[in-house]
Amino acid sequence: MSEINTKCVQAGYSPKSGEPRIIPIIQSTTYKYETCEDMGRLFDLEAGGYFYSRVANPTNDFVAAKIAALEGGFAAMLTASGQAATFYSVFNICSAGDHVVASTAIYGGTYNLFAVTMRRMGIDFSFVDPDCSDEELNAAFKPNTRAIFGETIANPALRVLDIERFADAAHRHGVPLIVDNTFATPVNCRPFEWGADIVIHSTTKYMDGHAATLGGAIVDSGNFDWGKYPDKYPGLTAPDESYHGVVYTERFGKGAYITKATVQLMRDLGSVQSPHNAFLLNLGLESLHVRVPRHCENAQAAAEFLEQNDRVSWVNYCGLKSSKYYERAKKYLPNGSCGVVSFGIKGGREAAEKFMKNLKLASIVTHVADARTCVLHPASTTHRQMNEDELKAAGVSSDLIRLSVGIEDKKDIIMDLEQALAAL
Ligand SMILES: *Cc1c(COP(=O)(O)O)cnc(C)c1O
Repeated sequence: MSEINTKCVQAGYSPKSGEPRIIPIIQSTTYKYETCEDMGRLFDLEAGGYFYSRVANPTNDFVAAKIAALEGGFAAMLTASGQAATFYSVFNICSAGDHVVASTAIYGGTYNLFAVTMRRMGIDFSFVDPDCSDEELNAAFKPNTRAIFGETIANPALRVLDIERFADAAHRHGVPLIVDNTFATPVNCRPFEWGADIVIHSTTKYMDGHAATLGGAIVDSGNFDWGKYPDKYPGLTAPDESYHGVVYTERFGKGAYITKATVQLMRDLGSVQSPHNAFLLNLGLESLHVRVPRHCENAQAAAEFLEQNDRVSWVNYCGLKSSKYYERAKKYLPNGSCGVVSFGIKGGREAAEKFMKNLKLASIVTHVADARTCVLHPASTTHRQMNEDELKAAGVSSDLIRLSVGIEDKKDIIMDLEQALAAL
């Protein structure tokens, strides 16, 4: 199985004779053993196997294995949400007193998690503009830096990350690059091929694709050599007393990072995905390679339509030649970027709100990246607590409309945009 299209459908689960053809929902909290000794060996990580679904569940593991295959990674795990995936991915290698460099062009929820909640836990963050100079990027690293974090295509700024440049900087400073690949999906970009070490997803978006389930995933490439930096990553390279002194890098090799995040963080923090949600997520994954190109084709058509409309003041989509990221997107996203387009209309906030009210096919929801076309006006919803200056700093102008183009017929989508603009 070498092609991503085939992996979307079949990777991660291959039933033996007489077993269910599709991934079964193992809706069981627990698993039976013949003896205490058998089960005890699992608790010491001396044998593989299931004993409690907070730590591991077969349905989740099949789906995680599919996502690992899609990204070309060594191992993966599911989490209850994208937020949990982001938190675990960083907290797995950081503790109080450590420092992380993050791109400013990231999801708002990630920014809050880093700048407020994780800072309260004693982890320090520096935010850098992803298009800053090499000097500025290098200057952001400190002796206690443990990771650098960015988004392939930032939500909602839609800025495209120069993954190779970030990976080079990370490795020169002896830390891994963590990339949130939610908007691009592995169908359009596989960050490991450009040097990223860890990839995370909000599977809530295109992977599920139907706005049916919250979920997240963490994938490890297996390439970062934690053992080379034992002083930086003692959580992976020194004995874990909660498992009778297991050293993850020694016992699990390339699987060290995901094993620790599973048997230690998931055990203790418990943001587990339900097997039923993992089952639904897998149904989404089975058509990911069919849906993503359609999202991109429709978004390209919508962006081109908007760009030539007189009432539209600006359009931001990296598939447009006018985009600052057009060339970079050709390198990292040669088959398309995503279905999300942002734009402004003349008349600012008031016109934006009226335009959205005029839409008939596209609905106003706090969501992106599902099958149905939808819109959001951040300045009056997700970012409404901010004043004009704060909105500007966040890269959210008060006229910005985020349009998530679905997989309906593009003629209907454009007709809807056209009538809503004409009625302004
Ligand atoms: C939505 C989103 C998240 C958070 O995911 P949830 O599943 O809502 O917790 C993280 N990163 C990006 C890029 C997102 O779009």
